[in-house]
Amino acid sequence: MQKAILLIISLIFCTAQQAFAQQETTYIKAGFLYNSEQNTLQKNKVIAVKGNKIVSIGDYSTIPQNSKTIDLTAYTVLPGLIDAHTHVLFSQDANQDFAEHSMQMLTMESEALRTLRGSKRAKSYLDVGITSIKDLGNSGLFLDVALRDAINEGTIVGPRIFASGPIISATGGQIYGVNPAHQHLIDLEYRIIKSEADARNAVREHVNQKVDLIKIATDNIPNNSALSVAEMKSIVKTAHASGLTVTAHSITNQSAYNAIQAGVDGIEHGFNLADSTLTLMAKKNVFLVPTENSRAYSLIYNKLAGFDETDVEWIDNYLQRMKDRLKRAIAKGVTIIAGSDNYTDIEVTRGNSSKDMFRAYFEMRMKPLDILQSATYLSALHFNKENEIGVLKPNAYADIIAVKGSLTNDFLETLSNVVFVMKDGEVYVEKFN
Ligand SMILES: [Zn+2]
Repeated sequence: MQKAILLIISLIFCTAQQAFAQQETTYIKAGFLYNSEQNTLQKNKVIAVKGNKIVSIGDYSTIPQNSKTIDLTAYTVLPGLIDAHTHVLFSQDANQDFAEHSMQMLTMESEALRTLRGSKRAKSYLDVGITSIKDLGNSGLFLDVALRDAINEGTIVGPRIFASGPIISATGGQIYGVNPAHQHLIDLEYRIIKSEADARNAVREHVNQKVDLIKIATDNIPNNSALSVAEMKSIVKTAHASGLTVTAHSITNQSAYNAIQAGVDGIEHGFNLADSTLTLMAKKNVFLVPTENSRAYSLIYNKLAGFDETDVEWIDNYLQRMKDRLKRAIAKGVTIIAGSDNYTDIEVTRGNSSKDMFRAYFEMRMKPLDILQSATYLSALHFNKENEIGVLKPNAYADIIAVKGSLTNDFLETLSNVVFVMKDGEVYVEKFN
């Protein structure tokens, strides 16, 4: 009996101690603070953090005496960055064929090994200040959901993962050249739908597996199958009824147009969007995730793929077309959201590889703060998470990073100089000097 009472007392004491520790507020002093909603830099601000949330933003004068502070006065403080298009459970070498590599992986790599490899890639995002990723398929049978859960429960360290589960697509998926006898293997990587009713079922299965959003492949280029408008309508209606957004991989202009007619929330890639489609996107508030790479990245890819290193004309032509497309999209008022789609091993960490999207957008003449907004507030807003991530404001998660340098004068160098990373109120990176 006495033992029981002692146990209860010690339990109460421990709980009280824990509660006290959780209630301690940390004050982060920022030299500059990036306000992602207003898209402005503000001087000398302080962020109060309690537990895993931000409780207030104020001036230095609001810091109580003898409180715990983190001094970032020499740096610019931003919300943790978001990569809206990742594939952490997939990697290929530059000289590998996507379809052949996919088939080899699906038949010869265990799910356990694939997931463990994915967890290492996921962690590398946190190291470079990307605290949230939208992982859009090519992740086996919901291995992205498993990875997300392992991170959220603290089993492994990584960014917030918002998982789509298998990409919903028409016959064949994106894996081209597979004989009819082996088509069932595609089901290990894609959710192939056969009708409007099946489209509804597919979304329900995904909802049941607790995905965070729906990814579809509106076309399957170079496979020549594509979803119909009716099928996509069925997907969008079911997803929206469950509070999930739908984003569509699209290569051709026609498939993007069809997806927009069906009511999708976003277009991924959109390499061939016509002006009329961009106008429709702006009107219907459909975002675009341009997944281009910088010239430097393309040159490395060219070399690793074993192509003729003196022949860079195709790279320059491609980049010129993408620059023109991005310029037209912005001029039409289409919301741009930052996403890398980097899954080729270019001999740097995945997180570092993903950050190449910032260089690409910068080379395509997007303004530094606009690039940042596309990787923070706008990315969260178009995913109904604008009160949780991508912002520094009360009640948002304490996902906070700091960079050294001037974002407006020396954007790329500054963004690569991440000196501090906090996710969910916990510090993961601290390298001041
Ligand atoms: Zn992709």
